[in-house]
Amino acid sequence: MPELPEVHTITSDLKKTVLGFNIVSLNAQAGYKISGEPSLVKDSEIRDIRRVAKNILVETDEYTVLIHLAMTGRVLLLDKQEKGTNWVRAVFYLQKNAINKVMVFSDMRMFGKVAVLDKSEVEKLTQKYGPEPINTDLDTKTFLEVLKQKNTIIKNALLDQSIVAGLGNIYATEALFLSGIHPETPTKDIDYQSAEKLLTAARSVLNEGIEKRGSTLPDKMYVDIFGRPGKYQESFKIYMKSKCPTCFSEVQHIKIQGRGTYFCPECQQKKTGYNPSAQKELF
Ligand SMILES: [Zn+2]
Repeated sequence: MPELPEVHTITSDLKKTVLGFNIVSLNAQAGYKISGEPSLVKDSEIRDIRRVAKNILVETDEYTVLIHLAMTGRVLLLDKQEKGTNWVRAVFYLQKNAINKVMVFSDMRMFGKVAVLDKSEVEKLTQKYGPEPINTDLDTKTFLEVLKQKNTIIKNALLDQSIVAGLGNIYATEALFLSGIHPETPTKDIDYQSAEKLLTAARSVLNEGIEKRGSTLPDKMYVDIFGRPGKYQESFKIYMKSKCPTCFSEVQHIKIQGRGTYFCPECQQKKTGYNPSAQKELF
């Protein structure tokens, strides 16, 4: 599933390639529904392309096209519509001077979304998300406060986009390993020091993910707008690994809310905190 680094890669590549292009038309393929009214962006110039959490926003003066990739969504930029591109759901015909481009949204499993939003809907969307760990304005104190908003385990808190935005399964798993935190640690047991380590680790994995243009797993689902895979999977430390790179212990693989979670039982031990039964054993 594309996370912040993958969506960042797509957004910044689109910005370099289609900014200033005119949307000649936006069409849904047969059997697919674009939410909102696609004709509202017809003949409008693309003024900006930006990312809010894992949403790609293609902005014209009045309206914005939101693209959310969910599990299997892709945005591909083609010189012309090519036959043989799989799972195409929506097609943008773009033009600038005499140059034509075709931007397609493809989505195998159709959990993704293309929607035309007005300004108030964009505003509402922006407010849905928690702070992004990649934002250098986010300090440890605020990060710790937002993590403790919900009484859950740390892995789930990191994946909840209303708590912190942009981290998904892979980068959360890597950040927890780098900060030595067990994924099932209750958020209430996270102290300032752990939050500091976690924030630093989250920033570092996200920035490295961006630098390496995202992660492409063996399913080859994620590709950039030119159809090329990312490279961050070559730098995974714990995700899909069998031995811990630090202590060589057997990596544990569990499911948390259905998502594959990898951790080292030695390097990521649960903090016991106050545990009455453990206390009893001492006496
Ligand atoms: Zn280890």
